[in-house]
Amino acid sequence: KLVSREFKQENSVIDVGGVKIGGPEPVVMAGPCAVESMDQLMEAAQAVAEGGAQFLRGGAYKPRTSPYDFQGMAEDGLQMLRKAADKFSLKVVTEVLDQRTVEEVAEYTDVLQIGARNMQNFQLLKEVGRAGRPVLLKRGLCATIKEWLNAAEYVMSSGCDDVIFCERGIRTYETYTRNTLDLSAVVAVKELSHLPIIVDPSHGTGRRSMVSPMAKAAIAAGADGLIIEVHPHPEVALCDGDQSLTPEEFKKVMAEIKRMSAIL
Ligand code: PEP
Ligand code: MN
Repeated sequence: KLVSREFKQENSVIDVGGVKIGGPEPVVMAGPCAVESMDQLMEAAQAVAEGGAQFLRGGAYKPRTSPYDFQGMAEDGLQMLRKAADKFSLKVVTEVLDQRTVEEVAEYTDVLQIGARNMQNFQLLKEVGRAGRPVLLKRGLCATIKEWLNAAEYVMSSGCDDVIFCERGIRTYETYTRNTLDLSAVVAVKELSHLPIIVDPSHGTGRRSMVSPMAKAAIAAGADGLIIEVHPHPEVALCDGDQSLTPEEFKKVMAEIKRMSAIL
């Protein structure tokens, strides 16, 4: 299989316009759960850039559990993401929810994100594989490592060599945390595949207090980077405020990660 270590022994390094994912330095993607307004996004982008992240994250198309919750700003949101990211020399990563918008999202973003809920949407996986952009493939809510690797195989066999895994927690019997962050998946994926893997401690825990400790644990476990939710005013966030770091909290954890990766 294309994703496997047997197929390719050396680690793949994915170059996104000069930002190397899978190289010696951890790559950090950060920003709000959802794009809410130009003001919110500009403030977030500034904080993310000042903290030293390389990517601005934010959803313009949101896969919400309830149809009555905020669904995202669609193409307006994509335009805002591009504008805010360019202003602070950041790359963009954003989710594509649906086959019909792959081309549209690919026009604005540097990396196409496949969310946990779509990890086994095979038609979508094939379509993003043909879109000419690197793909961030989040682990499904209940996906085994093998199912996840097979999802990446769909993307790769459609013509995309640049797949980045993202561990974002899985559903277990535990309800204290939003999900159970499986950091052993970092080691497993690295044993089984040459592709890079990053960790999402925000969705992985659902709790602001746990984001920094789990971010550091992920780097210690060998993750190639992180994706972290940061909101300039989490208390009024339209989505996932409880797990979003403030700009100050984000800068603190970034400084800690920098010191950690210097000794690893
Ligand atoms: C996200 O990162 O915006 C998101 C919706 O995460 P997940 O697909 O992991 O739930
Ligand atoms: Mn979120």
